[in-house]
Amino acid sequence: MQKISDRLIRVAELVPEGSRLADVGTDHGYVPIWLLEKGIIPSAIAMDVNRGPLLRARENRDRYGYQKVMELRLSNGLEKLRPGEADTVLIAGMGGPLMIQILEDGRENSQGVSAWVLQPQSEIPSVRRYLITHGFNIVDEIMLIDEGKYYMAMKALPGEAEPWEDVEYLFGKYLLEQRHPVLKKFLEKEKRIYLRILSQLTENHQSGTARCEEVTAYMTALDRAMEYYK
Ligand code: SAM
Repeated sequence: MQKISDRLIRVAELVPEGSRLADVGTDHGYVPIWLLEKGIIPSAIAMDVNRGPLLRARENRDRYGYQKVMELRLSNGLEKLRPGEADTVLIAGMGGPLMIQILEDGRENSQGVSAWVLQPQSEIPSVRRYLITHGFNIVDEIMLIDEGKYYMAMKALPGEAEPWEDVEYLFGKYLLEQRHPVLKKFLEKEKRIYLRILSQLTENHQSGTARCEEVTAYMTALDRAMEYYK
């Protein structure tokens, strides 16, 4: 059985059963292999913009004997995916801005895709905002800690969505509504960090600066998020 990190297991578990998967930025190819082994998906297209990762994915795929059901494709984002080829697209372990670019550039190629599983590594609020305002509906969110690092991932379906509130873009509407315990830990950690930053700014006579206002606004949002837990 292919061993994969807790992060990748939790992200893979968001993939709908029975879907033909396109894994963008597959690197080692671990996620499609794991999903094939579990019988969750019938087939996968593992894509990456770099040849090195694809070679690694090929080695792993061949070791597990999935040549017939796991195709490897050199592709910048969704460029080499043909409309109708995949039911679910998974993009994990990439920065938020790159992910948004891939979603934006891949509109034509992703026709027929009925689910998106996304695990951005940075600028997660921007990814949520992009989805909600560009014809995607976020239907599930998860949050976890793996080897001391916080990760968030989401499942989105094509469709119109009501706009979210700012605090929901920042921390995740469903995570807040679920009073997610990992999100609570994250909010508490952020509060400690930003209290320290604010007191340093005050000590350095930077009260009233743009940075100070930014930090204060973020701390207000943290308090607003903590209210969900009362
Ligand atoms: N998805 C795996 C995970 O979550 O562990 C691997 C993440 S790895 C950090 C990022 C992978 O994305 C690399 O293999 C990189 O080559 C690939 N990548 C970066 N930009 C890409 C793009 N525009 N299109 C496709 N793959 C890309």
